Amino acid sequence: MGKLIGIDLGTTNSVCAYMDRRDPIVIINAEGGRITPSVVGISKNGERFVGDIAKRQLLINPEATIHSIKRFMGRRYQDAEKDMALVQYKVVETKNGDTAVEIGDRRYLPQEIAAMILQKLRKSAEDFLGEQVTEAVITVPAYFTDRQRQATKDAGTIAGLDVLRIINEPTAAALAYVHDRRKSSTIAVYDFGGGTFDISILEVDRDLAEVRATRGNNQLGGADIDRKVVDWLLEQFNREHGIDVSEDKVVLQRLRDAAERAKLELSSAMETDIHLPFLLADAGGPKHLQCSLSRYTFESLAQALFDETIEECQRALQDCRLAPDDVDEIILVGGSSRIPKIQEMVKGLFERPLNKTFNPDEVVAIGAAIQAGILEGDVKAVTLLDVTNFSLGIEVEGRRAAKLIPKNTTIPAQKTQLVSTVVDNQRTVKIHVLQGESPLARENVSLGEFELQGIEPAPRGVPRIQVKFAIDANGIVQVSAKDSRSGVSNAITIDAPTGLSQMEIDQLREEHATQGADVEEPEEVKQLRGQIEKQLVSLESFLRDNRGFLQKKDVFEIEQALKRGRMALLKSSDKGNLDELSMYLARFFAHLADKTGAGDTPIH
Ligand code: AMP
Repeated sequence: MGKLIGIDLGTTNSVCAYMDRRDPIVIINAEGGRITPSVVGISKNGERFVGDIAKRQLLINPEATIHSIKRFMGRRYQDAEKDMALVQYKVVETKNGDTAVEIGDRRYLPQEIAAMILQKLRKSAEDFLGEQVTEAVITVPAYFTDRQRQATKDAGTIAGLDVLRIINEPTAAALAYVHDRRKSSTIAVYDFGGGTFDISILEVDRDLAEVRATRGNNQLGGADIDRKVVDWLLEQFNREHGIDVSEDKVVLQRLRDAAERAKLELSSAMETDIHLPFLLADAGGPKHLQCSLSRYTFESLAQALFDETIEECQRALQDCRLAPDDVDEIILVGGSSRIPKIQEMVKGLFERPLNKTFNPDEVVAIGAAIQAGILEGDVKAVTLLDVTNFSLGIEVEGRRAAKLIPKNTTIPAQKTQLVSTVVDNQRTVKIHVLQGESPLARENVSLGEFELQGIEPAPRGVPRIQVKFAIDANGIVQVSAKDSRSGVSNAITIDAPTGLSQMEIDQLREEHATQGADVEEPEEVKQLRGQIEKQLVSLESFLRDNRGFLQKKDVFEIEQALKRGRMALLKSSDKGNLDELSMYLARFFAHLADKTGAGDTPIH
């Protein structure tokens, strides 16, 4: 058996950790980072790049660079429209009504893309630990549905990992908290990441972590905040130049990138400048975007999203009948929880300082590693009592939904309900499994349906059919039905809700294993990149220092060279291309020096 690791498979970034005896350690990836961007780039010949390299090509090749895949995991195409507006790659509908990503003439299921990220993490862990990694605990947002959990588990399997447990991200954060302290308290985990928001209220004790309530929105995250800023930037550009650029994919990706950078800066600064030269060029010449965004304006743009998270916190408190000041500790998780306004609002709600002892990017992976340690028997067991986040039930007469397991029930859980026939001598009943809160069947999520055949003929209402629901510790649902007179039974695990059978998963696993790990940049390419970076920095500083003395057309020429250099640097990982770029920059600088007499400015 190989090593067991804990993985936080995030919308934006992923982190993995393991237990070194009693201590959780974050694993360093091949690029030397503690976090790996959850981004996959696919080249024309089908090669894949994962992590930092892929993130770099996002700007210039957005159609073949897949980010935020977690938003599409286990989602139906018709439900995912809002998320499609947040990405530049093509999302298509599979014949089962699920989502897939289309790059060139190949389709990838979200589970496959997630598997590529998991494979990269697995490889990093194997290199770091010097041993094989075959098993994992993977975290998911508390608000992930059964389909989304199952899709995550399938992604692990495709990546060659035996997923021993799926745990909720806030529960993992609570485990990290309990691991060191072991004192009784009520804690709130406020988890605001790149694509999802969750709030969980937990009672923790020396060796028990019990989730009392959990609420959230798995379609609300940092990317939605960025979108608000992008809309504002589009407005600014339109006001200044009278051009609507909202349909231009490359421009949109540049705006998204600038919006995120501005957002990050506004977590420490009160104002930030956004400068996007050559955003567009038309017959009237190049068009730039230059504006400044204050923290105040940023906060008003995103206020409705911030409010939504606070309302969810209030609902979670109501669910477990607690007042805000009953909560002893507030743990922040996820990159978006770094926004000062968010911190102020959360602190205001709970009337308590925030616990800042944990790194919000790493605490979930650390909790997953602790859960892995518990499963391995190396860490003293903490009993985790998690809850279901949605009610589960079946469709009954009149197209209504009958709840069998109400939301916030502690899992694992089981419930049995007796149902009967609605017409005389009915031989078959259809069991339609639903997830959601509405009394109307059609307003809930359909998890699947199955038929129980061979019921003994009898007047309506006489047969006694036992419908049994079981939810395991991973939050995965199994439903069975049995006619007590004839003894016939049937059962489904809602285990192929994402349209993948075990055989298909095994096939994908083999296919991905033979494709090997993602491509990593050779050392000499890394060095060339470093050299070009330096050349571009020299050129930029030359332009900054001499702008006043240069002719307009020289400035334009330098800006074009810088743009070309930056683009090529982002776009290419090919040694030949990069060599050529470096030589071009050196020649360009020599030509500039000839013209301006700036021969002594260093360029290498
Ligand atoms: P996660 O899913 O936890 O990796 O969070 C990623 C999200 O957090 C992205 O939307 C980031 O833009 C956002 N983020 C990271 N750091 C900060 C920060 N300092 N201020 C605001 N948002 C941040």
